[in-house]
Amino acid sequence: MIDRRKVDFSCIRCGRCCREPGYVLFTRSDQRRAARLLGISVRAFRTRYGGDEAGTEIRVTRARMCPFFSENGCAIYGARPAQCRTFPFWPEILASKETWNRRARRCRGMRRVE
Ligand code: SF4
Ligand code: SF4
Repeated sequence: MIDRRKVDFSCIRCGRCCREPGYVLFTRSDQRRAARLLGISVRAFRTRYGGDEAGTEIRVTRARMCPFFSENGCAIYGARPAQCRTFPFWPEILASKETWNRRARRCRGMRRVE
């Protein structure tokens, strides 16, 4: 496991990771924060983006990017979910130099570890 204090990361907000196929997870508190920023109720958030009290899982595919991504970047940046706030400091990325460097190939904000 790499020590996260020893890796260099500074997001340039290119949005590449927001367009990658996968899932964007909103926990209950993420739903609340995002709904507040959007000026809608949590119920309206769940109606619009799916999910329930357990959370919202938004599927991103090659044909469909995260619904919050716009040409100006993340439209809910100040209330983006924990998954996005904590990237790239995820255990599976910090697992080794190789996993960090592999992910860094697709993120210009991550500096390779030698
Ligand atoms: S790919 Fe990296 S630099 Fe680009 S927005 Fe995502 S975290 Fe930031
Ligand atoms: S919520 Fe924002 S930061 Fe997270 S994937 Fe969507 S656009 Fe990107």
